[in-house]
Amino acid sequence: MTEIKINSLKTELRICECCGSDDLELMWSSKSIVVRRLNTWEFPVNISICRNCGFCFSSPSPNNNDLMKYHEDGNVGFKEISLPYSIKERLRLLKKYRVPDGIFVEIGGNDPGEFHQKIKQYFNQLISIEVTKDLKNKSININTLEGLIDVISHYDVLEHVLNVKQFLSICYKALKPGGVMICEVPNLLLYPDNLLLQEFEHVNHFTISSLSLIAEKVGFSLIEFDNVCSRPYGFVAIFKKGGISKAPSKVNVNEFSVAKKSIIGGLKQLNQNDIQITSIRNKIKKLTNNNKKIILWGVTDLLRSLLKDYKISDKVIVVDSDPRTKDHLVLEGIKVSQPKNCIKNFLCADLLVICAPRYAADILTWVKTKTGKIFKDESLNIIGVNSSGKTLR
Ligand SMILES: [Zn+2]
Repeated sequence: MTEIKINSLKTELRICECCGSDDLELMWSSKSIVVRRLNTWEFPVNISICRNCGFCFSSPSPNNNDLMKYHEDGNVGFKEISLPYSIKERLRLLKKYRVPDGIFVEIGGNDPGEFHQKIKQYFNQLISIEVTKDLKNKSININTLEGLIDVISHYDVLEHVLNVKQFLSICYKALKPGGVMICEVPNLLLYPDNLLLQEFEHVNHFTISSLSLIAEKVGFSLIEFDNVCSRPYGFVAIFKKGGISKAPSKVNVNEFSVAKKSIIGGLKQLNQNDIQITSIRNKIKKLTNNNKKIILWGVTDLLRSLLKDYKISDKVIVVDSDPRTKDHLVLEGIKVSQPKNCIKNFLCADLLVICAPRYAADILTWVKTKTGKIFKDESLNIIGVNSSGKTLR
């Protein structure tokens, strides 16, 4: 048997980008093994909180060079199909900040096709910049656009960036005086209600106050923020270059305790989710031992947690309505089928496990309509929903 070589990302200490302190408290450490296109990686996770200001970020974090190599290695699959974002919410804000003869830049656009199509009416020119390719080694194409951009946006990017101030400075330079930056990131305060701490690639965990403090250091001033944004777990903050500069925000005295509580709440959710997954795994084992048939729906990280260190029997099939997931479980020796090709399997299945909780209602409606079968109570499990029925992902 050939042994799989695992590349460990080397780590380095980071200081707090919000206040410059190195007085950190390590809140949580773990490691994730990730199979990428070329290599298998061991990704270190060390979530620390700054004792001085309460900003949460990874330290020791993967070092920048290794992180670049990791991102360049490309995804095998499932991350590319992330939670869809609401174009409507993005348009709501962009309409307000439109510049019909101006230039709009999006950094790190995840499948921007339809989104950019729709904002053509608000800007004269749209430019997409990829983070891994174009932001590499600080020298990015965006430098050639210095002082020319009207609106620059990055949605769910900044939580992946090791040097936040440097990234924001690049945005600042690219903007015209008075230009606007739209920044959407996951909201640390919502961690107790979701499984975002599972997102091991996130190296920063922002609240509106930590983000605006860092952005102000670069010269931005916060002009607006909203907890309603294009993804259910984030917030969006709008910053302006120049203009009337507000007095810099002070460190919120409660930030440390609020941030710490949010991390602890998030860890509690992870723990409860692990307990749920273990019990579902045991249920599946018991049923398959009795020749019962099982369907797992949704190639998500929740499914991956379920399948971790666990070989599924041939009584179990995996389906996903997205045909791109067909080969995403090749390494696990599993073929992913389309639900529409598995009508017979649904009819004789004893258990349906939904691993895409946000789509649970749609999935159940589809199953009922297409097969006439209703999965409920003992014949249904939905992963990623807490005891009060709230969707965690
Ligand atoms: Zn700090």
